[in-house]
Amino acid sequence: MICDRCDKPIPEGEAEHVPVFSGSGAGATVVLHRDGCRVSPTHPVPYPTGRGR
Ligand SMILES: [Zn+2]
Repeated sequence: MICDRCDKPIPEGEAEHVPVFSGSGAGATVVLHRDGCRVSPTHPVPYPTGRGR
């Protein structure tokens, strides 16, 4: 799946589903990196992938 914040693929197990409630009433869910990520990466930062498999 793709992170809704940084538009990068999220490894399985690293994703976090965050419910977003808009004013229209219909709730949506965004998928973000669990460990956090930056919206606009100015330089490539190696993402910690050593956890899990
Ligand atoms: Zn992300």
